[in-house]
Amino acid sequence: MADFYLKSRLTMGTNKPPDNSNVQKKFDMSIENLYRRNRRFAGEIRTLIHKYVERLVKIHGKDFKFKFMNFCGTHEWTTVHYGIRSLLPENIELVAGPGCPVCITPSFLVEHAIKLSFEDVRVYTFGDAFRLPSVKPVEGAKSLAEAKASGGNVAVVYSFLDALKESNDYLKDSVFLAIGFETTAPGYAIPMINSLIPRNMYLLPALRLTPPAAEYAIMEAKKRSMSSINGIIAPGHVSAITGAKPWDELSRKLEIPTVISGFEPLDLLLSILELLKMILKNEVGVKVEYRRVVSWNGNVESLNAINTCFEVVDSPWRGIGFIDKSGLEVKDTYSNYDAFKAFSLDKPNRTSWSDDSLSGCKCTEVILGLAKPIECRFFLKVCNPSKPLGPCMVSSEGTCSIWARFGGYLSLKS
Ligand code: SF4
Repeated sequence: MADFYLKSRLTMGTNKPPDNSNVQKKFDMSIENLYRRNRRFAGEIRTLIHKYVERLVKIHGKDFKFKFMNFCGTHEWTTVHYGIRSLLPENIELVAGPGCPVCITPSFLVEHAIKLSFEDVRVYTFGDAFRLPSVKPVEGAKSLAEAKASGGNVAVVYSFLDALKESNDYLKDSVFLAIGFETTAPGYAIPMINSLIPRNMYLLPALRLTPPAAEYAIMEAKKRSMSSINGIIAPGHVSAITGAKPWDELSRKLEIPTVISGFEPLDLLLSILELLKMILKNEVGVKVEYRRVVSWNGNVESLNAINTCFEVVDSPWRGIGFIDKSGLEVKDTYSNYDAFKAFSLDKPNRTSWSDDSLSGCKCTEVILGLAKPIECRFFLKVCNPSKPLGPCMVSSEGTCSIWARFGGYLSLKS
């Protein structure tokens, strides 16, 4: 059954869009049963994973580690929440890469937002960024939550559209702290194009792109650690926008296989199995496990909207610094929505950039997949989900927060 399923779901890295065969439709109809309840099927995939590792160990030696990196906080959540690591042979190591937008939002943007909130500019934010700590305090506040507690003008919203509706009635200046990856960017671009943003609302963009960060993290792992990354588990929702193509290019450039994965536990198990198969065949390129959502070219309308409003630029990542062509800035044609211009806010460049990691913490290493949260001396001592010290402890997608709540290496056997 597992092989039949794999044939129906995975598509090779070719320029052809995935075909919608009857087999595919049949499986999509029973997706709920398959993904949520099918323990027998999970067992079959697990057995196959162990068999493939046995074959690979014969080639590479019993001590060889297959290190796979994910680039999505939700993948890490699924991995930890469902105990996926405990189902795998010891030769497989799953590491979390820079896949949480809150964790990588630079401190200077939080500091700008806090400062504006004290100048009676209403700052709208998502709930997780509300508690994101800055490195430097601004008028005594080190997060938007602390700013609000001290009288800052901060409003937590569930979506950008909610902020648009509210600011329309508010009439005074307001700013939206626009964090996110490729998945979130169209949500800002489409209202800009359609003139749905009220004249009193500006964007403070912290939009970042995942494939350049994935390349950076993998190169850093190569430089700094003994073992390289052997496979990429690429983010399904980001790829719904970008398509599979950029991951295929990256995979071929770095010469390691990539599987774009969905977020259910069986999605991840299937993606790990497929990476092992690709390694055994010495294959590079991308395969799409999350075929029910991801196409080769992505969501062309959303990509066009992003390209219309934003420019790809070298951008700073929290604790890491600048990564080439890894962020989005508001284009000049839409500069009337740009908070940097409206409020003459400073923007660092490579020369003026100063490290914004917290002294003594392991946030940068955790973000790059070079350390586990438990290796940080602050983990669950002075840094915990109710009182986060570093950025990875804030969001439900942050690696430290996930490990703190569910236990990163909790074994089903123990
Ligand atoms: Fe950073 Fe806290 Fe995680 Fe340490 S435990 S790496 S300080 S978020």
